[in-house]
Amino acid sequence: MSRVVVVGAGAREHALANALASSAEVVVTPGNAGIAAQGIACVVTPAIDLRADLFVVGPERPLVEGLADQLRTQGKAVVGPGADGARLEGSKAYLKEFLAAAGVPTAAYGVFSDQQSAESYLATMRPPYVVKTDGLAGGKGVLVTDDFDAACRDVAEKLSGAAFGEAGRTVVIEEGLTGAECSFHVLVDGTNYVALAPAKDFKRVGDGDEGVNTGGMGAFAPMFSTSSHEASEIERTVIVPTLAELARRGINYRGVLYAGLMMTDAGPKLLEYNVRFGDPETEVLVPLYGEELFDLLLNTAEGRLDGASASESGAAVTVVLAAEGYPQSPRKGDVIGGLGPDGQLATQMESVIVFHAGTLRNEAGEFITRDGRVLAVTGLGSTVDEARRRAYEGAGQINFRGSVRRSDIARGAGVS
Ligand code: AMP
Repeated sequence: MSRVVVVGAGAREHALANALASSAEVVVTPGNAGIAAQGIACVVTPAIDLRADLFVVGPERPLVEGLADQLRTQGKAVVGPGADGARLEGSKAYLKEFLAAAGVPTAAYGVFSDQQSAESYLATMRPPYVVKTDGLAGGKGVLVTDDFDAACRDVAEKLSGAAFGEAGRTVVIEEGLTGAECSFHVLVDGTNYVALAPAKDFKRVGDGDEGVNTGGMGAFAPMFSTSSHEASEIERTVIVPTLAELARRGINYRGVLYAGLMMTDAGPKLLEYNVRFGDPETEVLVPLYGEELFDLLLNTAEGRLDGASASESGAAVTVVLAAEGYPQSPRKGDVIGGLGPDGQLATQMESVIVFHAGTLRNEAGEFITRDGRVLAVTGLGSTVDEARRRAYEGAGQINFRGSVRRSDIARGAGVS
């Protein structure tokens, strides 16, 4: 049997490990309590010291820091770009320069490291004002506001280092775009790509997209079909020119490329690239591919996607259960009710999977909250509506003090 190492510790890695476990022996480093509870090995050994036929790197930071390069130097097959490709996510200023060179549609922008020029530029923009940290900020470095003074204050907090440390000492200010957002994941093998089902994630903490941006409060897929007009327009205007630009720069990109898009009246525009699977998008994407996933990822790592395609079946919706106070100051250490010893629903509902994001087990063996995002509850079905009903039924069986969840994930998404 093949052996796969998954790198990471969240619900994304739980979803990957859970899906890959049907085709391979899976080891996760470091993993989490929910993954271990399902009988999947979690080890603290660094990836570089493990042996496997395939390495799948979950989070962006190790990719930006060159983990995939180190693994490839040892001849290992890796899903995840080297540090050169990972700059697409690691620096927003680099991303914008790259997109201009590639001819990919994106918001107008300026890059600033002093307050006065940033404010002068903001004064030329119309609301909403968009202020981003240049460096990595765990998905929380973006302010979108109609309030000019709030935008200026945010620039000051970022540039001073107070808000995001070094990552914020350069800011990118962008034209505010409107439309539906879409997460479009492709697997790239250096030359060829395979598109996965378009997904929608819900970034704001509150119902109706109110409140602050978070790492993500839920998601559903498919948002539309991979054979739709929208998908082919995204591929033609965004993905294909991006791969051509990567090739021009001599970057051999092997991994997941996740385009965060705004579907504007003037067509899709790129908000951001991520160089790995989205979280919580993975919790809805991965279950749609079942046993196909292992071959898709191995072929991605080995440069063998030519002629390949991915065929999803059904639909999935995930609802994130977060801790009270998330994202600013989440409570920790509360006992979670409704889970069995395997970390899944105690009632063992069919077509519902519980992915653990931030849990621990206490001495009594109970699961307790460990982080802001605690669990992602995924429902599967033949339509988005059916999947949504199951996800919420499952989520309704779990309780912990002050738990925060949105009630409108995938509401009205209709038949897929
Ligand atoms: P990013 O990390 O760049 O994807 O930004 C996080 C979130 O901020 C996005 O998912 C959007 O909801 C919002 N956002 C980012 N850029 C823009 C923009 N130019 N116009 C409007 N909203 C944006």
